Amino acid sequence: MTAATLHSSDAFTLRAYDYGEAHKIVVLFTRADGLIRAVAHGARSAKNKYGAALELLSEVAVAYREREGRELAQLVTCDVKRARFSVAADPSAMAMLGYWAELTLELFPPREPNDPVYRLLAVGCESVERRLALGVGAARRAQPALAAYVETWLLRLAGFLPAWGRCALCGTTFKPESAARLATDGTPACLDCLAVGQTIDPSARRAYAAIQRLAPGDFLAQAPTASVLEDLAEINQRLLQAALERPLKSYAVWRRLRAELVE
Ligand SMILES: [Zn+2]
Repeated sequence: MTAATLHSSDAFTLRAYDYGEAHKIVVLFTRADGLIRAVAHGARSAKNKYGAALELLSEVAVAYREREGRELAQLVTCDVKRARFSVAADPSAMAMLGYWAELTLELFPPREPNDPVYRLLAVGCESVERRLALGVGAARRAQPALAAYVETWLLRLAGFLPAWGRCALCGTTFKPESAARLATDGTPACLDCLAVGQTIDPSARRAYAAIQRLAPGDFLAQAPTASVLEDLAEINQRLLQAALERPLKSYAVWRRLRAELVE
C-alpha cells in the first residue's frame, strides 16, 4: 500500500461534474500544483458541505490527498475564499468565465504549477466584478477587450503566442506601419515570405503589444476599437485551433449569449 500525501493550496474551481450518485469530480487550478482533478465526496448529497466552493471560478482554499499512481485526488477540505455572486447574475459574464476556465483546462498540463496563470485568473475575475459593479451594460461592452486580454495571456503563458514584432518565417522585424500577413496557423509573416493570405493590420499588432505591456485595467481604459478586437478574436481562435485542434464549445456559448444580450 502506498502512502497518501496531503497537499494544501489556494485554487480556482474550473469545473465540477457528477461522479456516482453522491459525489462530484472537481477540476481545480491550484496555485501550488497547477491542474488537479479530485473527488468531492458527498457533493451531490443533501448535506453537501461545499456550497459555492464548486462553482465556476470560485477561489478556494483546498486540502487534498494524493496516492501515487492515481490520477484522482481526494478532496479533504474546500473552503470558499471568494465566490462569484455578482458574475452569476449576468449570463454573458458567466459564459465568458466558463470560456476562460475551459481554456485553462485545455491549455495547461496536469500537476504543473504556473503562478502567472493563477494571477491572471485572479485579475481577470476581479476586472469582471469591478465592471459589473459599474453597471451590466458597460460590463458587457467591455467583455471583448477583457476576453482578448485574458485569451492572449493564456496563449502566451501556454507557449502558443507568436512574437508580433517580427515575421515568424524569416525573423525580419516589422516596421511599425508595414503590412503583414497571417499564415493559416495564425502566425504573422512578412509580405516577402507569404505571397497570399489575410492581411493583418498594424493596429492588431499594436493591440497585442499593449496587452503584453499593460495591466488589464489600463488596457481596458485605452482599449482598441471593436473591429481591432474582432481581428484579435479571430486570430486568437486560429492560434487555439492550431494548438488544440478543435474549437471550444464554451467560446461559441459565450459569443452567442453576448450577441443576444448586447444591442
Ligand atoms: Zn518573412
